[in-house]
Amino acid sequence: MPKEIPYKIYLEENEMPKYWYNVRADMKVKPAPLLNPETLKPMTKEELSEVFCEELVNQELDDNTREYPIPQEILDFYKMYRPSPLVRAYCLEKKLNTPAKIYYKFEGNNTSGSHKLNSAIAQAYYAKQQGLKGVTTETGAGQWGTALSMACSYFDLDCNVYMVKVSYEQKPFRREVMRTYGASVTPSPSMTTNVGRRINEEFPGTGGSLGCAISEAVESAMSRDGYRYVLGSVLNQVLLHQSVIGMECKIAMDKYGIKPDMIIGCAGGGSNLGGLISPFMGEKLRGEKDYQFIAVEPASCPSLTRGKYAYDYCDTGKVCPLCKMYTLGSGYIPSSSHAGGLRYHGMNSILSELYDQGLMEARSVEQTSVFAAAQEFARVEGILPAPESSHAIKVAMDEAIKCRETGEEKTILFGLTGTGYFDLYAYAKFNDGVMSDYIPTEADLAKGFASLPDLKL
Ligand SMILES: *Cc1c(COP(=O)(O)O)cnc(C)c1O
Repeated sequence: MPKEIPYKIYLEENEMPKYWYNVRADMKVKPAPLLNPETLKPMTKEELSEVFCEELVNQELDDNTREYPIPQEILDFYKMYRPSPLVRAYCLEKKLNTPAKIYYKFEGNNTSGSHKLNSAIAQAYYAKQQGLKGVTTETGAGQWGTALSMACSYFDLDCNVYMVKVSYEQKPFRREVMRTYGASVTPSPSMTTNVGRRINEEFPGTGGSLGCAISEAVESAMSRDGYRYVLGSVLNQVLLHQSVIGMECKIAMDKYGIKPDMIIGCAGGGSNLGGLISPFMGEKLRGEKDYQFIAVEPASCPSLTRGKYAYDYCDTGKVCPLCKMYTLGSGYIPSSSHAGGLRYHGMNSILSELYDQGLMEARSVEQTSVFAAAQEFARVEGILPAPESSHAIKVAMDEAIKCRETGEEKTILFGLTGTGYFDLYAYAKFNDGVMSDYIPTEADLAKGFASLPDLKL
């Protein structure tokens, strides 16, 4: 007999996952390798090690090791805020009057307010192990920079964050959290790097972009001894660290004999979704069980649903390796959607490959419908969700409503990646009824596609 399902499912300390799961090990067709933009040959370990920490490079390139034991120091840090609760959304089910059973995994229970801390602590740990002085990174909306500054202060590492200028100006509170944890925060494009000076000259007064901040952070890391660059999403190593989300879910659900029919997550660079679905996708790839996976992206930045599967630059300055992914082109400039964390032009290469093989679906949703879902969720479940997370809420609610119509008792699991306390300008726009939806036209997309490299591979 299955046990009665509590409102919140936690794990005991001895039940916690001890390793990260690398879904690439179970993929028959592996994701495409990163390429050197000059030679067009796969990036070697040596080349990548100039930019990234060594152990993280190993993880990035490793398509075969299934399980990575989580180092004890990281397990110790995880104890501060993990396990994250797996919540049965009884109140939401009742409100929607649905026979569906809805669960969400809530990653917002830490000061950074999102899942990003799971990978930040891992990356800071390996930087420390390597004897580095510090790390550089970029942040858009600010969640990643906050998470990294927390992780760096824990391991006593210097942390330099290039923050997209518009966010730097619009989100002074995020900036102060980072500074409280000892990070130095520079608005990007800045005058401290060649690429920043070039972009400032070409586009005077620009508010910056994530792609541009990445270029600056990479240049800054490469030009200083004892520094490496770290990235909060998109890379395969980040998905690996985020698999802790899916591992905890799987252990908790197995314990109560629950099998989700569909698993839903928002997709920016793909790390929370990839981490959430990884162990379940592994079962699907091995032919053990079947699940429906749904990636949710904003209609304003639809890399999976309307992008191309191609090699592309990861950053505006074109200093990073080329990556094969679903992309809108590194020159694509999304409209100023409020889901800052979902505004990246590309998608992680593992998820891109799984999507291309038809193993995962994708949907795009419009901003106002996302905030309407966020508001409904906040009112019944008590948590004020991040706009990014609310993309997953929206599709989970849509699916639960479908169940009401068909009478199907599906079990739905979605990732609630974080809280929205720093997104109250966006909530204000929604509450004032002045939020707009922007769906790019074919012509808008064509401009982005024109920036794709012509590689003649
Ligand atoms: C960064 C962020 C995301 C999107 O990033 P992924 O790498 O796609 O997971 C989603 N939700 C929140 C709260 C974030 O901070």
